[in-house]
Amino acid sequence: MGPGGFVPGGRYNYERVERPKSLKEIPAYLKKILGGFFRRLFYIFSLVWQTGPWILVSMSLITLVLGFLPVTGSIISRNILNALQVIIEERVTGSPVSFWGSAVMFFIILLFTQRLLNRIVQRIYNAITRIAGEKVVKQVRVQIMEKARELDLASFDMPGFYEKLENANREAGIRPVTIIRQTFAIISTVIELISYVVVLATAPDLWWAILLVVAVSIPSAIISFVYRRKTASYIRIRSKDRRQMAYYSGLMVDKDLVKEVRMFDLSDKFIDSYKNVFDRYYKGLRKLIIHENFWLIMIALVSSVTNLLFYGFIAMHVFSGRIKIGDYSLYTGAIGSVTTAVNTLISTSADIYEGTLFIDNLISFIDEKQTVAPIKNPPERVARNTAHTVVFENVSFRYPGTERDVIKNVNLTIRPGDTVVLVGLNGAGKTTLIKLLTRLYDPTEGRILLDGKDIREYDTKDLYAMFGIIFQDFGKYAFTVTENISFGEINKEIEPECIEEAARQSGAAEYIEKLPCGYDTPLMRIFEENGIELSIGQWQKLAVARAFYSESDILILDEPTASLDPMAEQEIFNQFDKLREDKTTIFVSHRLSSATVATQIVVLEYGEIIECGDHKTLMAKKGRYYELFSTQAKRYLDSDAEV
Ligand code: ADP
Repeated sequence: MGPGGFVPGGRYNYERVERPKSLKEIPAYLKKILGGFFRRLFYIFSLVWQTGPWILVSMSLITLVLGFLPVTGSIISRNILNALQVIIEERVTGSPVSFWGSAVMFFIILLFTQRLLNRIVQRIYNAITRIAGEKVVKQVRVQIMEKARELDLASFDMPGFYEKLENANREAGIRPVTIIRQTFAIISTVIELISYVVVLATAPDLWWAILLVVAVSIPSAIISFVYRRKTASYIRIRSKDRRQMAYYSGLMVDKDLVKEVRMFDLSDKFIDSYKNVFDRYYKGLRKLIIHENFWLIMIALVSSVTNLLFYGFIAMHVFSGRIKIGDYSLYTGAIGSVTTAVNTLISTSADIYEGTLFIDNLISFIDEKQTVAPIKNPPERVARNTAHTVVFENVSFRYPGTERDVIKNVNLTIRPGDTVVLVGLNGAGKTTLIKLLTRLYDPTEGRILLDGKDIREYDTKDLYAMFGIIFQDFGKYAFTVTENISFGEINKEIEPECIEEAARQSGAAEYIEKLPCGYDTPLMRIFEENGIELSIGQWQKLAVARAFYSESDILILDEPTASLDPMAEQEIFNQFDKLREDKTTIFVSHRLSSATVATQIVVLEYGEIIECGDHKTLMAKKGRYYELFSTQAKRYLDSDAEV
C-alpha cells in the first residue's frame, strides 16, 4: 500500500519505514528514508512552482547572494584590521604612512555597503517569502477543496478520513514555503560554509580544525534527525487527540448547540474533556522536546570546549608573529562561522526532513482514491428533460467498515411519472435507498439500472445533475434568499421571476416578502450585521422552493417537510404532484396522509421491502401499511377530538 492507503475502518496508514535490525540493513533503510525525503521535497517544489515560478527563481537568485555575502564581510573586516595593524606598526617604527593607511577608509565604506546590501537583500527575501506563503496557502487550500469535491461520500464515514483531512488542513498553512525557504537556506549555508573552509585552508595548520568541527557535529545531526522523526510520527499518530480537542472546543462555540450547552450546563464537562485530552497529548510531546534538547545541550558543551582550544591556538600564532590581528579575527570568525554553519545545516535539514514528513499528510489526502466513478470509458451520458425508468435489481448494501446489511435484496421498479412514497420506521433504510439511487454510494450487491443501463456506467456529474434532491438535513447557507433557492439549479442563470415562482409554490414567498431586503436578504448572522435567522419551518419552505426551482428529471424529497404541519406538507405534495407532470418524484415521509396521492407506496422494514402498491391496494391488503396508516389516522382523529 502506498503512502496514505486506507485500512478499511482503521487508522490512516502512513509511510512507515521499519527500523534496521542489523548493520546490513542500514543502507536499504537509508535509501528508503532518503528516497521518501526527496520525493516529498520534489512534490513541494512542484507545488510552489505551480503557484508561481517567480517564487522559485527569485528565491534561488537571492540565495546565491546571501551565501556569498558573509565571507565578503569577514574578508573586508580582516583587511581593515590588518591595515590598522600596519598603521600602528608604522607609527611605532616612525616610517611614513603607506598605502595601507589610506586604504582603511575605503574598506570601512566597503564594509558598510556590504552590510547595507545584506539588509536590503534580506528584506526583499522576507517580503518574497511572505507573499509566496500567502499564495501557496491558497493553492493548497484550493487543492484540498477540489479534492474534497470528488471524494466518495463513503470517505466521510471513516474516522481515518478525518485524520487525513485534519492532517492535510494543518499542513496547508505555511509549511510548504517554510520548507522551500529552509531548502534555500541550506544552499546559502553550504556556500557560506565552503567559502569559510577555503579561508581556513589558507591558514597555517588549521585544516584539522575543520575536521574536528565536522566530527563534533555528527552526533548532533543524528540526534536531531532521530527526534524529528519521532516528533513527526507522534504528532501524526495523535491526530485523534487533536481532532478531539478541536471537537470539544468547537462544541463550546457552536451556534446550534449553545442553547443546550447552557441549559444542561455542559460547559464544565466539555472543558474537562478538552483538558484531559490535552494533558495526554502534551505529556508525550514534552518528553520528546526535553530529551532532544538535553542531548543537544551536551553536544553544545563539547563543541564550545573545542572552539575554545582553536581560539587559543590561533592566538598563539599571533604571539609568534606568524599572522596578524586581522587574520586572527578572520580565522576565529571563520571557525565560529563554520561551527554555526554546520549547526544550521544540521538543524535546518532536520527541520526540512520533519516538514516533508508532515507534507506526506497532504500528499496522501490528495492521493485519496475515488471509487464512485464511471465504470465505463467513455461514460454514458444521461438523457435530460425526459422521463426515466429506474430498476433496483437484488440490491443489498452495508456501509463501508460495518458488518450489517442495511438494505437487503431490494427489487423495485420506478416508472416514468411515478410518485413514489417511501414509508418505514426510523432506521428502516429509506435515506440509504436514496443514497444508493443517487449513487452517493454503490450497492454491495446487485445493481441499479437507469433506463436499462447500470447507473455506474453514467457520467457521475450528469447523473447527479439529473436528480433534484432535498435531504432531511438540507443545507442552510449563509447566502442571500435568492442564492439559497438558486442552489437548486446552480448552473442556470438567475431570473428573479423563476426564483419568486418557486418560493410561491413552496409557500416561502409569504415570509420572504416581509423580510427587510426581500429576496436579497442575507441569511444567518455569521457574516452580515443585517443577516436574518429563519425558523426551522421557514428554512424548510426555502429548501422546498429549491426543489421547485430545480429542473431535475427525478425529484427526491427526504422528509424536508417534517417540521411543517400536516396540512402544509400535504399542500406541498399536491403542488409537486400537479406541477411535475410526467417527471418522477420520490418522497420520504413519516406522515402517511401524504402517501394517499402516491402511485406507488414502498414500505421498508429493516432494509427490506415488505409491501409495495398504491394506497387502495395496500389498505385492502390490511398488512403493515394498513396498520401504520390506521394508527396515525386514529391519532389525528383523537387529537381533533381533544381540540
Ligand atoms: P431511515 O432513513 O429509514 O430513517 P437510514 O437509511 O438513515 O434510515 O438508516 C438505515 C440504517 O443505516 C440505520 O440503522 C443507520 O444506523 C445506518 N446508517 C445510516 N447511515 C450510516 C452511515 N453513514 N454509516 C453506518 N451506518 C449508517
